[in-house]
Amino acid sequence: MAEVKLDFLGDLRRTHTCGELRANDTANASVLMGWVHRRRDLGGVIFIHLRDRYGITQLVFDESKNPAAHKRAQELSTEFVIAAEGVVELRSADTVNPAIATGDVEVAVSKLWILNESRTPPFPMEDNVDVKEDIRLKYRYVDLRRPHMQRNIIMRSNISFAVRQALYTQGFLEIETPFLTRSTPEGARDYLVPSRVQPGNFYALPQSPQIFKQLLMVSGYERYFQIVRCFRDEDLRADRQPEFTQIDLEMSFPQEDQIFEVIEPLIWNVCEAAGARVERKIPRMSYEQAMRSYGSDKPDLRIPPFHCVEDLFAGTNLAAEGLPLVAVHVPNVGQLSRKERDEIKAFGQERGLRVFDDIKRLERDYPEAIAKVRERTGAEHNDLLMLATWAGEPKGALPDHTVLQACGQLRLYIAQRYNERHELLDPEVFKFLWVVDFPMFEWDADERRWNAAHHPFTSVHDEDLDKLTADPAHCRAKSYDLVLNGVELGSGSIRIHRRDVQTKVFAALGFSEEEARRRFGFLLEALEYGAPPHGGIALGLDRLVMLLAGEQSIRDVIPFPKTAKGTDLMCEAPSTVPDRQLRELGIKLSVPQ
Ligand code: ASP
Repeated sequence: MAEVKLDFLGDLRRTHTCGELRANDTANASVLMGWVHRRRDLGGVIFIHLRDRYGITQLVFDESKNPAAHKRAQELSTEFVIAAEGVVELRSADTVNPAIATGDVEVAVSKLWILNESRTPPFPMEDNVDVKEDIRLKYRYVDLRRPHMQRNIIMRSNISFAVRQALYTQGFLEIETPFLTRSTPEGARDYLVPSRVQPGNFYALPQSPQIFKQLLMVSGYERYFQIVRCFRDEDLRADRQPEFTQIDLEMSFPQEDQIFEVIEPLIWNVCEAAGARVERKIPRMSYEQAMRSYGSDKPDLRIPPFHCVEDLFAGTNLAAEGLPLVAVHVPNVGQLSRKERDEIKAFGQERGLRVFDDIKRLERDYPEAIAKVRERTGAEHNDLLMLATWAGEPKGALPDHTVLQACGQLRLYIAQRYNERHELLDPEVFKFLWVVDFPMFEWDADERRWNAAHHPFTSVHDEDLDKLTADPAHCRAKSYDLVLNGVELGSGSIRIHRRDVQTKVFAALGFSEEEARRRFGFLLEALEYGAPPHGGIALGLDRLVMLLAGEQSIRDVIPFPKTAKGTDLMCEAPSTVPDRQLRELGIKLSVPQ
C-alpha cells in the first residue's frame, strides 16, 4: 500500500449523509464522510463519488478554486475513507445524474481529510460483478458494502423491527432463554460445548427454545417471544446453516385460530416493511387437502392445483388399482416439442410415475372422460395437461401420498421449466398459506418406528386421542405450518399440557418412561405444577427475509453465513485448538490434528 499521510478526525462532525442533499440545499455548507466509490480525474478537475450507507454524493475538486484540496484528492483511490467540507452547488442541466437521489447537486470541496487508506478491494463495489461466492465470503466485510447486500441487511433489520412492533403491540414479552443448555426436542444432532469446571460434561446448544418457552407458560408469562438463534448439526444441504434465526413465540390458553390471529398482523407489518404487497387474509388448507391438490405439504399457490380424476376412468386400466390418477395442469406452456415431452416423462418416470403425455390420443380413446377432466381443471388451449399415476408398487405407509408427492414434483418441474413467460413463479407475488391438521406421526422405515411429525410435545386432536397406539397413521395433530410460495416458513402446535397425555404420546413414540425422564424430566415435572393449555409457533427469519428480498439463497440475507460445509471462510472456523485448551477440558482427540 502506498504511503499516504492520514488526517485525524479531530472534532469534525458530519452534517449530512451521502443520500441526503437536494437542490434546496444549494449554497449550504456541508461536511460529508464516507468511502471513495469512484474517482474520475480530468486533470484540472477531479470528481469523486462518495458513498455511505445512505447513498452516493458527487464531490468536485477544482484546481483553479481549491488547489490544496485538489492536490490532496490526487492521492485518493477507491475505498479510501475520507471527510470533505464544501458548499452544495446545483449541477448544470446536462450534468444532472438521475441515477442517484442526490443527482441534482454536487459538493465543491474546499477541504479534504483522508481518514484511512484501503488496499485495492478483491472485487468492485458494484452489484452485477461476477465474483465467486468463496471470495465474497472470505472478504465478507467488503462484500457487505455492496449496495445490494446493504439493501438486504437493512431490510432484515427493518423486518426484525416490524416483528417486534407487531408482537409488543399485542402484549408479548421479549424474554431470553439460555444458549448453554441440554438437548432439546427438534430431532437433529446437537452442537456440544464441553464444560471446563465439570470435565466430561457437556452443554448442548439449543436446537430451539421449545422447552424453555413452554416452561415460561407454566410460569405464567402468557405471551412470550424472542428473535433467537438456533443451532442444529444436520447433514449438509445446499441452503442450510448450522445456526439460524427464528421468530419464536408461545402463548397460554390459545385456540389454533388465535395463534393465526397473532401471526397475520405480524406478517402484514413485515411485508409492509419489506415493500411487499400481499392479500390481507391467509387461507387455510388441511394437510390432506394439500397433498390431494398439490402433492406437497407446502404448496406453492402461485401454480393452480392438480386434480385426482381416477373416478372418471373407472373400469379402464389407466390408474393403478386403488391409487390416484392425477391430472397435472400447468397454464401457459404452449406447444412442446417431442424432446421436451420426453424430458417431462423421464422426470416423472425417475420418480416412479407413469405419465400419459399425449392428451390428444387420450381424447380419442376417452372423449367424455377427458372433456370432464378439462372441465374439472379449467385447462385452456395454451395450457399443459397430462395424466399421471404410479408405474409399479408404491412404497410407504400411505401409498397414495407417495404417488401424489411425485405428481407434485412433476407439476413444479413443469412450471419451473416450461411456463412460457415465467409469470407463474413471479418472485414478487407472495402467496401465504396455513397448512393445518398434520398427521401426528411419521413412519421411519429404516428404524421401523413412528416418529413425532412435529415434536413430541404436540397435542393430538381430542377425538384422535384413543387412536394413539391403535392407529397412529391416522392420528391428526394440532399442528400447523405457515407456507410462503412453496417454502415452509415455520411450524407450530398446540402443546400437551397434561402429564397423562404426554405419557401416552411418549409411549406411542416408543420412548420408555425412563428415557423420557432422562431427556425431558424437568418439563414432565413442570407439567405437574399447574401447566396451562398453551401453544406457539416459530418462523424462520432467514427464509422470510430471503423470499421478501427476492434472493435465492439465505446466505445473501445473513451477514456472516457459513458455507454449505459449515465453514466460516473469513475467520476460518471451525479450527483446531491448542493442546493446552483440550487438556483443560479433559478432552483427548482420536482424530489426528
Ligand atoms: N420449536 C419448534 C421448531 O423449532 C417450533 C414450535 O413448535 O414452536 O420447529
